[in-house]
Amino acid sequence: METRLCLEYEPHPVKRGYTDHILWVDLTAGRIADRTLPPEFKEKYVGGRGYALKLIWDETTARTRYDSPENLLVMAGGPLCNEPRFPGTGKFIVGTISPLTDTFVDSNIGGHFAPLLKQCGFDALVLTGLADREVILCVDGDRGVIEILEAPAFNPEEDWGALTYGEALLRWYNGGEPDENVAAVVNGEGSLHARFGIINSLFYDPRRKRIRSKQAGRGGTGTVMRTKGVRAVIVRSTLAKVNANRPADEQGVKEAGALLKKVVSLADPQQLRLASWGTPVLVEYMDKYHILPVMNYQYGRHPEAKAVFADVFLERYLTRKFPDGCYRGCNLACAKGAEEVTLEQGPRAGRRVGIDGPEYETAAAVTCMGIFDPQFIMEYNWYCDEYGLDTISMGVTASFLMECVQRGFLAQEDVGYPLAWGDTRAAGRLLHETARGEGFGKVCGQGVHRAKAVVADLHARRTGRPRREILAQLERFGMEMKGLEFSMYITKESLAQQGGYGFALKGPQHDEAWLIFIDQVHQELPTFEMKAQALKWFPLVRTWFNAVGLCKLPWIDVRNPEAARTENPARNLPSLDYYVKYLNATLGTRKTLQDVLDDSERLQLLQKMINVRHGKGSRESDRIPDRAMGPAFLNEYQARAAYYDEWLKERVGDEQLPGSMEERHALLLRLRREAYERLCDVVYREKGYTDEGLPLPETLEAFGLLDAKALELLESKGLTVARERALSN
Ligand code: SF4
Repeated sequence: METRLCLEYEPHPVKRGYTDHILWVDLTAGRIADRTLPPEFKEKYVGGRGYALKLIWDETTARTRYDSPENLLVMAGGPLCNEPRFPGTGKFIVGTISPLTDTFVDSNIGGHFAPLLKQCGFDALVLTGLADREVILCVDGDRGVIEILEAPAFNPEEDWGALTYGEALLRWYNGGEPDENVAAVVNGEGSLHARFGIINSLFYDPRRKRIRSKQAGRGGTGTVMRTKGVRAVIVRSTLAKVNANRPADEQGVKEAGALLKKVVSLADPQQLRLASWGTPVLVEYMDKYHILPVMNYQYGRHPEAKAVFADVFLERYLTRKFPDGCYRGCNLACAKGAEEVTLEQGPRAGRRVGIDGPEYETAAAVTCMGIFDPQFIMEYNWYCDEYGLDTISMGVTASFLMECVQRGFLAQEDVGYPLAWGDTRAAGRLLHETARGEGFGKVCGQGVHRAKAVVADLHARRTGRPRREILAQLERFGMEMKGLEFSMYITKESLAQQGGYGFALKGPQHDEAWLIFIDQVHQELPTFEMKAQALKWFPLVRTWFNAVGLCKLPWIDVRNPEAARTENPARNLPSLDYYVKYLNATLGTRKTLQDVLDDSERLQLLQKMINVRHGKGSRESDRIPDRAMGPAFLNEYQARAAYYDEWLKERVGDEQLPGSMEERHALLLRLRREAYERLCDVVYREKGYTDEGLPLPETLEAFGLLDAKALELLESKGLTVARERALSN
């Protein structure tokens, strides 16, 4: 194996959560650099998502696409990442210009990679340029060596007795069985062919004695990594993990962690029971409240859904004897796994495999295809991970194509085989074709946004109908925005979650605002004003978690009993208080929650500016499909006619209710569209945007972001700015 580049270095110690160094790898030039960050960088951009945003804002332009050499792939934890005494500290962010959205996307991911990278002396890893051959990057903090090597071309099974490339790679690197001091990020074959390739974060689980994985699933991060020619990055450090952040106040860290762990251990068993059931527990809730995506979000529940409730997975597949945290010290431990599942379909049929999952999102991506088969869900989970494909984008794109068949936009000869709801053989075939870039999988691998154009072309050619007319129909049920597929919640009856998706800067992914539960299940946002305020407040808190390297679940999914005594229980402020304590104890600061929210708002504005630069920052880009706000077609209205009739009567009165269902359907959609537009007006005002959704100059100025580059961009969008005054600040 050829070593292409090797750098010896002195690993930088961590102090108060930071090393203040970035590992910068230019793959075109074949250069490895150890860059020092000035102190003001962390003060302004915090870490994680903030670092990715600032670096991409500086280093890329409006013309940068996912495969441009200057595109960056940034992986960064944050100052609070890597502390086993506090729950959920293994998270990091992968940020880049996305192949799906053509603007900034970030995806958060667990595992041991970011903690080990920090122990190797780096707060972030940046990959830029394009390698001329497939390589791997190895960062060995113990030896003080960083190497770029030609990617090993071994046969995983024959050479290393491993089923997957990633597993074989870790065995090869460790000269046998890996251990907890080594971790890797890898992509798969699907990243070569699909725009929604993922990055798997691999780590060794000594209890299960196998490699486990977590995924940076959204937006095509794996596709970018593979396009750059990087197959994997491996990190190693044997330094002690406890107290590794060298906090300013060790006792304060211990106390904050103990407080949160106590809430988790007492409250979770009374609430969602994530520690016992994992996130599949949500399938039952979502089905009960008409939120579970069924047949491309046409329906929110299904009589067969109980076949894929959490108890089924628990009894048939999940191994309960281990606490399943994705990083040390997380007592919420929601990352469930199954051992020895025999695959029944696909190229690996007959093999026994370990499976990490399923998460709720994966199970719901399968019900979205009208499939209620737990074995298929397990296999879909394994194959998507192994191919390196996002389970959400894959399921939503397949569902969209199935609905195109249902509504006559696609014919069997277009696909090559019947593509029907609930058909596990067809769904499996489409998955394998997508991963390999074969047959109709080439269309599926483009994601919903681009698949709409292909379907419109095919249908126009066959029928002679105007293409624009066809596309307008497809827009109504193609579940994507800004180019990203919706995640797995039906938003028809939750205006708050419509905004949660619509205003999400990366596209419709719930990690910016998961309001569906508090709005539709707990009914804690009854008024329009409360929904609008929540759409400003929750994304700020959630962005902060992505900047500091923390998992949000112990905050948002476990309600501190003390929250009931507060004015707004859904905000769970008593637990949030522990997080602020942990932050201050680590950094030696005296920040308040408001300071944290201000730091976060700066990052959101920076992301908004990147969107503006890439043509995804206006009101137009925040529009959601009809299917996201109500029944897009009559069959959906019919399925809940009594409910929708009642909803209309409450708004227009009995006398004004139209006689025909077609008219009632049209009226309902008009009212829902108007409500969404009103929501845009109010939320834009709350966020300091213009009516068109652009940040006002004074909003940028208040957060220190109104520099010459920002001014020029705003001016190019028609905003007039007092230039001298702005630049003198
Ligand atoms: S709550 Fe779940 S996802 Fe979050 S850190 Fe713990 S195990 Fe990982």
